[in-house]
Amino acid sequence: MSQHFLLSSKAKTLRLADVLRLSDAEAEMAFRKIRWHQTAGESVCPHCGGLDAYLNPRPNKTTRYRCKACRKDFTITSGTLFASHKRPLRDYLAAIAIFCNEVKGKSALAISRDLGLAYKSAFVLLHKLREAMAEEMKGRVVGGEGKTAEIDGGYFGGYVKPANHRENRVDRRLAHNQSGKRRAVVIIRERDGKSLPAVFRSEGAALSWIKSRIAKGTVVNADEGKSWNDLHSRYEMKRINHEEAYSADGACTNMAEEFFSRMRRAEIGHHHHIAGTYLLRYAQEASWREDNRRVANGDQARTVAALAMGRGPSVDFGGYWQRHIKSALPA
Ligand SMILES: [Zn+2]
Repeated sequence: MSQHFLLSSKAKTLRLADVLRLSDAEAEMAFRKIRWHQTAGESVCPHCGGLDAYLNPRPNKTTRYRCKACRKDFTITSGTLFASHKRPLRDYLAAIAIFCNEVKGKSALAISRDLGLAYKSAFVLLHKLREAMAEEMKGRVVGGEGKTAEIDGGYFGGYVKPANHRENRVDRRLAHNQSGKRRAVVIIRERDGKSLPAVFRSEGAALSWIKSRIAKGTVVNADEGKSWNDLHSRYEMKRINHEEAYSADGACTNMAEEFFSRMRRAEIGHHHHIAGTYLLRYAQEASWREDNRRVANGDQARTVAALAMGRGPSVDFGGYWQRHIKSALPA
C-alpha cells in the first residue's frame, strides 16, 4: 500500500521548532525575502517605490527604514496584511506554520495558548490568514472545454437551541421558528483543479455566480437538488441522485463533498459556531486547504506568508478589534 502523502517526508519540510529559534534579524530577513523577492530582499519603499533606504530604528530599537527619495518611514509590514504589527515577526511566522500544519483548522483559543496571545488577537490574526488564503481566489474562473467541475451546497449556522421542556419546544423546520441566520455555502470544484466557495441565502441564489465562475464548455456534476435544474441551459450536466448511488455513470460530486467534510469537521472540531459575518472566510480556508492538501507544509506556509505580504491591509479588520460587517460578505 502506498504511503499517505501527509505521512511522507516530502510533506514535512518545515519544523515549528526551527521557526521559534529564529532571531529577530532572521525573522525580519525571512519576511524581507518574501515581500521583496524581486530585489532579493532589498527594501522597496511602499510609498514611492524607491530602492534606496537607510535604517531609522524606532526609539524601542525595532527595525524601521527611511526612504531617501520621499523621506517617509516604513517597516517590513507597512501596507501589508500585518501592517502595524504588535508582536515579534517570529510569532507571525509561527502562527502561519501552526495554521498550515492543521489540516482541518485551528481554533483561535488554541493558538492564543500556543503563542501567549489574547484571544481577540488570535481571532483577528487567524482571520487575516484566511483573508490571505482568499486572495488566491479573487476573480477565479474554473473549467473550460474538456474540463469537469462539481458543485454542491451545504447549510451552516442559524442553530436554534431546543427548549428544555417539551411543551416549550417549537418545530424548527418552519420558517417562522428559524433564526434567519442559516446560510448556504456553495462550492465549485474543478476535478484535478481549483475550488471556489461563496455564501448565499439558499442554493438557488447561487446560479448567476456559478455561471460567472464556471467557464462555458465545462461538464458540470451536481446532485438531484432542484436548484441546479436551471444550469442545464448553459452546461452539459451530469446529475447524481444520492438516494440511489454516490457515483454512477461517471457522475458524482465526491470532490465537492470532500470540501464539506473538511469544513464540517472544522466547524465541529475547532470552531463550534461558524456563521454570519465570517462564514465566507471559513469556507475560503477549507477551500484553500483542499486545493493545497498535497503541498508540503513548508511550501504552504511560504505561500500564505507571501499572500499576506503581497496584499494591502485587512479589509475585515483595521489595526484594532473592529468588525466591518459588509466587507466579509460575498461581492
Ligand atoms: Zn519612498
